Amino acid sequence: MSEVLKKALEKLGLVRDIDLVLHLPLRYEDETRIIAIAATREGQTSQIEATVVDQQVQLSPRRQLVVQVEDASGSCTLRFLNFYPYQQKSLAVGKRLRIRGEVRGGFWGRQMLHPQVKAAEGNLPAALTPVYPTSRNLPQAYLRRVIATALQRVALPETLPPQAPPPPFPNTQGAPMRTWSLHEALHFLHHPTPDVALATLEDKTHPAWQRLKAEELLAQQLSQYKLRQARAQLVAPVLKPHTAPAGTDAPLPLHEQLLGRLPFALTAAQRRVCEEIALDIARPTPMHRLLQGDVGSGKTVVAAISAAIGIDAGWQCALMAPTEILAEQHFRKLTEWLNPLLAERGQSVAWLVGAQKKKQRQQMLQAIADGTAALVVGTHAIIQEHVQFARLGLVLIDEQHRFGVAQRLSLRRHDTPADAQTDADNAATALAGAGMEPHMLMMTATPIPRTLAMTYYADLSVSTIDELPPGRTPIVTRLIAEHRRDELIERLARQIAQGRQAYWVCPLIEESEALDLSNATATYETLGEAMPHARLGLLHSRMSGADKQAVMTAFAAGDIDLLVATTVIEVGVDVPNASLMIVEHAERFGLSQLHQLRGRVGRGSTASACILLYATNDHGKLSDTAKERLQAMAQTNDGFEIARRDLEIRGPGEFMGARQSGAALLRFADLATDQNLLEWARALAPRMLQHDPALAEAHMARWLGGKWDYLKA
Ligand code: ADP
Ligand code: MG
Repeated sequence: MSEVLKKALEKLGLVRDIDLVLHLPLRYEDETRIIAIAATREGQTSQIEATVVDQQVQLSPRRQLVVQVEDASGSCTLRFLNFYPYQQKSLAVGKRLRIRGEVRGGFWGRQMLHPQVKAAEGNLPAALTPVYPTSRNLPQAYLRRVIATALQRVALPETLPPQAPPPPFPNTQGAPMRTWSLHEALHFLHHPTPDVALATLEDKTHPAWQRLKAEELLAQQLSQYKLRQARAQLVAPVLKPHTAPAGTDAPLPLHEQLLGRLPFALTAAQRRVCEEIALDIARPTPMHRLLQGDVGSGKTVVAAISAAIGIDAGWQCALMAPTEILAEQHFRKLTEWLNPLLAERGQSVAWLVGAQKKKQRQQMLQAIADGTAALVVGTHAIIQEHVQFARLGLVLIDEQHRFGVAQRLSLRRHDTPADAQTDADNAATALAGAGMEPHMLMMTATPIPRTLAMTYYADLSVSTIDELPPGRTPIVTRLIAEHRRDELIERLARQIAQGRQAYWVCPLIEESEALDLSNATATYETLGEAMPHARLGLLHSRMSGADKQAVMTAFAAGDIDLLVATTVIEVGVDVPNASLMIVEHAERFGLSQLHQLRGRVGRGSTASACILLYATNDHGKLSDTAKERLQAMAQTNDGFEIARRDLEIRGPGEFMGARQSGAALLRFADLATDQNLLEWARALAPRMLQHDPALAEAHMARWLGGKWDYLKA
């Protein structure tokens, strides 16, 4: 095997025989039958067997090879726009050929453009010909050969326990379906007999597909259970607030002091989730909890209270945010809330981001290492490089979904495997020390749909804030077409004259940061000209940390009326005065992104509005999914409903951020349609681990391969 081909196979994850055998066809070609030319139908792909009766190179309208073939029933013209001398030779007059292609009718009779052609010799195949997903430098024919060889060579002993209930296959034909063995199922899927109903292969309802999907889901569930068992062995610090002995005037626990300082009372939902967290971190196994609550539901204060409990128990806490702007905002808020209380203990809140003056950074690192930094707020910088905590007890991750944590969220290891993939992994690795694992709380406004929770987050506890703080007026959302932009700007200018503050968000263009930036700058300038009396600010990701900070501070202080920004303000930003959000080219944004952007307003008591300015294509149309997204935004303010629709529109793969991380989730099973198989796997996995551990290991090794090896480590 050439080095190039080997590399190409590896790139597709095709290393072991079992990997090759699990690389299944995208579709099939039927080369089992020959059709008489007269019986072919327009628009259908057919295989004919015919003799060449004429060959010419035509020069107009463009140079092409034109070959006339005939069988007993009729004739057909083959056309090749790009051709080589060797083709001319193999298509010489008198040759008998097997030709496969799409038949086009037309004034000049039947034609095929660029058909596949080979000599008419040997028997016709008995099975359909598989077409595999492949890459540019891996020819289909070669891939077919290596997979066929692997299929002959590989042993496929059953790993399902003999006494396990068979997977529940849907009963598509009305007749009871027999259960297929893995061996049968795989051989069939690579080389199905021509009598199969192709639709059942395409939509994967065929029992052979069902068998595979059941296996895949079982492997996934087994690994989740194993990880949960592994976590139960880990030790975490017990974080309990101190209790003042009765009758003394010892100070109140820190979190109660904090509650006393807040300008508001917690909502019932906030109190409930605080209690759930407090119970969890008081136990000696690491908490692994997701805090979900709609944008503006008040997750930050819950994080602050959790941190106060940890600090009170004598441990350090870390709060990680996905952007510098958000980290900065958290830092300001938490400093305001906690520093006066921490000062009495000789401690403070520290601050760590990438773009930081070296001297300041050194001071912060020192405070983190000697424990005077009770709480460290920052970006990725917290988990990168040489940050040494004295006693880290609790990690809070804000806007968890932005960290690409995906399904690997549930993993925490002490060593750093070469392929540590997620920030949560890295966090835990960097932070674990002294044989103790920190507790972990992940916060998100993007709730996890139930099917995903069952599948990938089986290992995660969930707390939900299901009410907004009182006094909020609902945000009114309006869709406005781009051609009414001038009208919108006029109205905006009037609103600003009345003292309102607004955001104007410019979209990413083709994922290019440079363009993105020039676009925001241009918008900033044209808006400035259109509204000479308004004070404008500009915010984008290429600005220095200090500049961003200055702009945000001015906006929060009311010194800027209109903040023109890129999506850097997407998550978390909290400026309660701002009551207008305008999103330009809203059709380019994803649903949860739009919901996050809208969540930047409606944070104070003024009635807020969100304007989604959309542009249509040249035909005055929006794509269907864009239309669905914009309508969903106009119809509901409820983040949970938005997440549900998002899942419908996008599917779970993208929801999980799998596209970014490149990690395949489920290859075959589909959570939307295979619920019954998932339930089966969920029920079987724990029993299998208990009663047939060897089979369970073999099953995971087969399906998860190398990945599983290091998960076990
Ligand atoms: P998110 O859940 O989106 O992170 P934040 O934590 O940023 O929300 O809170 C949104 C705003 O609501 C902040 O200005 C915060 O101070 C305020 N807030 C939080 N809890 C309450 C409450 N119980 N009553 C009134 N205002 C609150
Ligand atoms: Mg937030």
